[in-house]
Amino acid sequence: VRRNGSKAKAVDTTRRNLIKATGFLGVAALVAPAIPSVAKAASPMDASLPAPKIFTGKTVADIFPVKPDIQRFSYRNTAFIRGTWDTTALCYGTPAITDPTFQQRVRLGQDGWHLEDYALANAVGATIRHEGIGTGYPDRGIISWSPLGAVKIPSMVSPLDKGRLQNSLIVKKAALSLGANLVGICQLDPRWIYTVDMDGLPVTFEDVNVAYSDQEHHALPNSYKSIIVFAVQMSYDMMSVAPYGDAQGAALKGYDDQAVVAARIGEFVRGIGWNAAPCSNNTGLSIPEAISAGLGQLGRCCLLVTPQYGPNVRIAKVITDMPLAYDSPIDFGLTNFCNNCKKCVQACPPQALPYGDAEWQGFSISEFTGVYKWQRHAETCYRWWGQTGATCGICIRVCPWSNGVMHNNGLAQAAVMNVPQLDHQWRQLDDDLGNGALRDPATFWTGSRAYGPKATKTASSQ
Ligand code: SF4
Ligand code: SF4
Repeated sequence: VRRNGSKAKAVDTTRRNLIKATGFLGVAALVAPAIPSVAKAASPMDASLPAPKIFTGKTVADIFPVKPDIQRFSYRNTAFIRGTWDTTALCYGTPAITDPTFQQRVRLGQDGWHLEDYALANAVGATIRHEGIGTGYPDRGIISWSPLGAVKIPSMVSPLDKGRLQNSLIVKKAALSLGANLVGICQLDPRWIYTVDMDGLPVTFEDVNVAYSDQEHHALPNSYKSIIVFAVQMSYDMMSVAPYGDAQGAALKGYDDQAVVAARIGEFVRGIGWNAAPCSNNTGLSIPEAISAGLGQLGRCCLLVTPQYGPNVRIAKVITDMPLAYDSPIDFGLTNFCNNCKKCVQACPPQALPYGDAEWQGFSISEFTGVYKWQRHAETCYRWWGQTGATCGICIRVCPWSNGVMHNNGLAQAAVMNVPQLDHQWRQLDDDLGNGALRDPATFWTGSRAYGPKATKTASSQ
């Protein structure tokens, strides 16, 4: 190692960082006994993690400032879909221009963009592509709003109804058994349901018993009052090479997984005698629903951040008429942590994330207006996707909650809850340990997990 001066310097730097890190861990250990014990976690939280503050009986609209006249959002205005029809959008044609760029990189034989990377990044979406669901079509394929016929309630047997609380526990247990990593339940808030699907077909509420779709619209019954919201963890192994091609596989596999799990949960609910409309990324805004169901908080990365997996998740939901008890939003100290951290903001190559405070107004029609929140410049983000050839994900890779110092770290999470004055130290420790650094994409297929700071190539350098 000493033969190479730069390597020696890197080792010295690493050693210094480790010493600093060890010193901070010592301080953290000293403060640990002083941290007040917190109440045991309530579902849906993992009982091994410190309990967050729970806003009992509240919805996301109660804890975020929301203007009383907010309007439902058009799915066609989301930046991802808008790129398919709005030639004024800076990210015009994002899905159409991402793939050719990826293919061009494959032809050039660039590391992180080889044929096997391209095949993997697409094969992980085999189910939703085969079913014609993509990421945005409601009531289609395995996420049909009609029974798939996999589970049928035996004749002469009444629907399961053990009271709202017990019903919820059964549904949550089933959801986790069926492939969800996190699950919560909330009351359906019609304001978060999209006005139209990606083709412009309206989504309406009607006095019917069962959800259905026809040539004119998608109809949700007024009796479907509950949403089972769940998250599937994305592969950090794949996400660790973001923005290289295999990181796109993490995202697309998340979409594939959430469709499969939503289909299974839908069949389970029908199998115990109730109606269900499984939805993937479509039909409603997943983030407010997930916040209402207690899965996490909105981070500065403008994604849902969960205490368990950070933003490294995909969210989906099943809307149902089953009588269920509801979870409440949680606060695990993320807002203050994000105010000190800003790691995703600093790491975002096109600077699409905000350094400043939350705002009412977004940068374009692709942002939900009327909610006081951190605003992402979505067009800038997706334009960068088009330039790189894949779906980026750097903000997910670097977040200390995804796989860094906050991930699965009860001590750190308790400190964030109870000693927020130390938040900037956790960010510093995360950096010192090299967490969230780009993994050299050349190592993806070798099994070597070189996640450390020595892997410094960027897609933009190629
Ligand atoms: S996906 Fe990439 S470009 Fe988009 S906000 Fe995250 S880091 Fe920035
Ligand atoms: S990287 Fe830091 S600022 Fe960004 S969402 Fe994660 S914790 Fe918040």
